[in-house]
Amino acid sequence: MKITTITATEFSLGPLERPYWNSIIRSTSKGFSRIEIHTDEGVTGTSFGGNRSHVLGRFKDLLVGQDPLNAEACWDRLYAYNRKPVAKGEYISAIGVVDIALWDLRGKALGQPCWKLLGGHRQRVPVYAAGGYYEEGKGIRELVAEMEGFLAHGYQAVKMKVGWPGAGLKHDAERVRAVREAIGPDNDLLVDVNNAWDANTAIKFGRMIERYEPYWFEEPTPADDYRGQAAICAALDTPVASGENEFTRWGFRDLIEAKAVDIVQADPRTCGGFTEWLKIAAFASAYHLPMAPHGGPHVGAHCVAAVSNGLIVESYVHSVQTHVNEFVEPPDIRDGYVTLPDRPGLGLIWKEDAIQRRLG
Ligand SMILES: [Mg+2]
Repeated sequence: MKITTITATEFSLGPLERPYWNSIIRSTSKGFSRIEIHTDEGVTGTSFGGNRSHVLGRFKDLLVGQDPLNAEACWDRLYAYNRKPVAKGEYISAIGVVDIALWDLRGKALGQPCWKLLGGHRQRVPVYAAGGYYEEGKGIRELVAEMEGFLAHGYQAVKMKVGWPGAGLKHDAERVRAVREAIGPDNDLLVDVNNAWDANTAIKFGRMIERYEPYWFEEPTPADDYRGQAAICAALDTPVASGENEFTRWGFRDLIEAKAVDIVQADPRTCGGFTEWLKIAAFASAYHLPMAPHGGPHVGAHCVAAVSNGLIVESYVHSVQTHVNEFVEPPDIRDGYVTLPDRPGLGLIWKEDAIQRRLG
């Protein structure tokens, strides 16, 4: 089998009715993108997410004529393209999107779901709903209603944001308390700082909310502050989750060796694709660290299901990315778990007519 071409579909879905923000990033619009890798045998691999069309031309030159089943060879061709490969940044995430589409293709060619091809550890994996952003006019009451809505959708773990300077530590701690009280002791509460603080502020806040038993404390410091995050890991009982802004096995080696992470959140797109994610998971397993991939469940659940140290997967399909459901069926989420499909590849169910309608 040979790769014949790569195509991309991208469109804007316009401005958000209600912009939202975390501690550092304000989201005001939404869009959708999909890439497709075609072969001479009529099998097509697809993946979605991430506007990476600016490098697709280069990737096409590197992959056309290659056998898509040779995963390592394809990855190495993409990585070595720059001649002086750089292990971090947008280019790695672009490789990630293509690599995931290649795995979808492999699954379809072999008639097996990705989670099995990648390792095949279990078919049902824990999932959490990621939300709890800040919004104009969104107070504690609205935050609590959102979290209760997640439980009603079948989640047993929910994530909320803290760290926006406009909120302040005391108010953020109050938000955490309210959510814990609302969801009760039997559901898990994850708290995400999105890199907003220095280590001392994070330790102070971590102690303020320890009584509410957070499941994890996510990205308390900037992604390059290994030393500060290691101090937080050492100071708090709450595990520190991190890695959505880290790239490749080499970046994760440094993060893990610095003792700056308890739960490894390698995002399969950002880190360089499934091929690279598996290497990171293997490295983490040697340190007895669990993997909790950042990003949506369509892709991430395959990662968690593939490896023995998979912990939990993130989901936005009932929060800030409901627009994706217009184009792809949401995964099967019930009783706190995602059940992985038996369908080949990623097992995505595309709503082709909705995509064509948007393309006009
Ligand atoms: Mg995060």
